[in-house]
Amino acid sequence: MGFFNPALETCPRPALQALQARRLARLLTDVPEHNPFYRSKLRAAGLGSPATLARLCRDPRGVQALPFTTKAELLDDQAKHPPWGTNLSVPPEVLVRQHQTSGTTGTPLRWGDTRESWAWLASLWGYQYEAAGVTARDTIYMAFSFGHFLGYWTALDAGMQAGALVLTGGGQSSVQRLEAMLEHRATILLCNPGYALRLAEIAAHRGVRLQESAVRAIICGGEPGASIPATRARIESRWNARCYDRIGATEVGHTGFTCEAGQVHLIESEYLFEVLHPQRLTPVKAGEEGELVATNFGRRAMPVIRYRTGDLVRLGEGPCRCGRSFVHLDGGILGRADDMIVVRGVNLFPSAIENLLLGDPAVLEFQASLARVREMGELRLTVEVDPTRGQPREVAARLANLFHRQLGLRADIHPVSPGTLTRSEGKTRRFTWTEGREPNEAPREVDG
Ligand SMILES: [Zn+2]
Repeated sequence: MGFFNPALETCPRPALQALQARRLARLLTDVPEHNPFYRSKLRAAGLGSPATLARLCRDPRGVQALPFTTKAELLDDQAKHPPWGTNLSVPPEVLVRQHQTSGTTGTPLRWGDTRESWAWLASLWGYQYEAAGVTARDTIYMAFSFGHFLGYWTALDAGMQAGALVLTGGGQSSVQRLEAMLEHRATILLCNPGYALRLAEIAAHRGVRLQESAVRAIICGGEPGASIPATRARIESRWNARCYDRIGATEVGHTGFTCEAGQVHLIESEYLFEVLHPQRLTPVKAGEEGELVATNFGRRAMPVIRYRTGDLVRLGEGPCRCGRSFVHLDGGILGRADDMIVVRGVNLFPSAIENLLLGDPAVLEFQASLARVREMGELRLTVEVDPTRGQPREVAARLANLFHRQLGLRADIHPVSPGTLTRSEGKTRRFTWTEGREPNEAPREVDG
C-alpha cells in the first residue's frame, strides 16, 4: 500500500492551493484563446478580459466567479456543432481517442482525448492502484465489456504501466470470466459492484470457493455500491478481499480513489473541486451534503470548468488517518441529485434502500419500484429470499419493520424465490422510479 505521488498526496494545504491557483491560471490563459465554447461563456459572464481572469486566479476560490457548465449545455453544443461541439482547444486531428457517456435515456455525450490527456487520465488510476498495493507481481482481471465508456480503458493502460499482467474479460460469459480469473490466479478484480456480487453468486452455484481464490482487492466503479456499507461488506466477505471505490465520469475523468483507510479521496492536485448546496449553489461546510462541482487541469483538448457532476457528496471532517492531505468524502458518492425520490414526504436515495436490504444476509437480490396507491406514492420491493437463512414471510416482516424504523417509511415487500429476478452484468438496474421525480430531469449517467 502506498502513495502514487507522495509529494502531492501529502502536500500541505496552502501549497496544494497555490498549485491549484497556478493550474487554474494556466487553464484560463489557454481557454479564451483556443476554446470557442468557454470563450463565449466567459465573455457572456463579463469575464472576457485577461486581466480580470488573472486577478481571479490569485486564489483557487476565484473559481467561484466563473460560470457553471452543465451536461445539458454540452449536449446542446454537440447537437449544434457535431461531432465534437465547440468545447475543443485543439484541432480535431490531434485527438487519438473518443469515448462517450451511456445515453441510456438521452443522447450520449462524446469526449475526445489527445495522447497527453490520455496519459493524464491513466495517471489518475495510479493513485488507486498504489493505494490498493498493485505492483508488477499482480494480475489484474477486468470483468467488463469494453465499450464506449472511458473508465476501464484507462485502467488497462495504467495497469500495464504499473507492470501488472492485465487480462480483459470483454466478450466473455460470467462463467468464462470466473474460470479465467481462477486459472491465471488473478489478484485484482475490476468490475461494477453489482457484478462483483453476481460473480460471487455464480461461483457459489458452481461450488467454487472464492474466499480461497487469489483475488485480494476488488476495485469498483460505474455505480456507487462500493461505498454503500452493506454492499461493500457483502463484496468483501464473498471474496475475502478488500473493496475499493473509484469514482469519476467520462466527461470529467477519474476524480477520486479509495485509500487504505477506506476513504474516498478527491485528486486535488489535478482538479479544483467545490461542494455546493444543491439549490443555492453556495459552498457547504464539511459534514454537509452538496453537489460535487469539478474543474479539471489535465485535459486541455476538452476541459471542463465548474462542471456540475450531479453527484451528491459530503466532505469528511478532519484529516484522514492515511496521511493524505487531499480531502476525503464521507461515504463516497451518496447518490445522484436526480436519483433522489420523495415517498410520502421522505427524501430517499436508492443507496439507502440498497444498504438496508443488502444488510440482511437473507436477501439475495432485489428490485424497487414506486407505485401510486390511493394517490400516494408507495415503495414496492421485490426481494429474493435465501430459504436457508429465513422463512420468506418472516424476512419480509423483518424488512418492513426495518424500513419503518430506520427510514420512517411503509414499504410493500414481496418475497420471491432465489433466481427469480434478472441480474445485469453492467450497471445494476434495480430501481424503477415512475413517481416522485420532477419532469425534464437530466438522465442518470455514470461511466461504466
Ligand atoms: Zn485516506
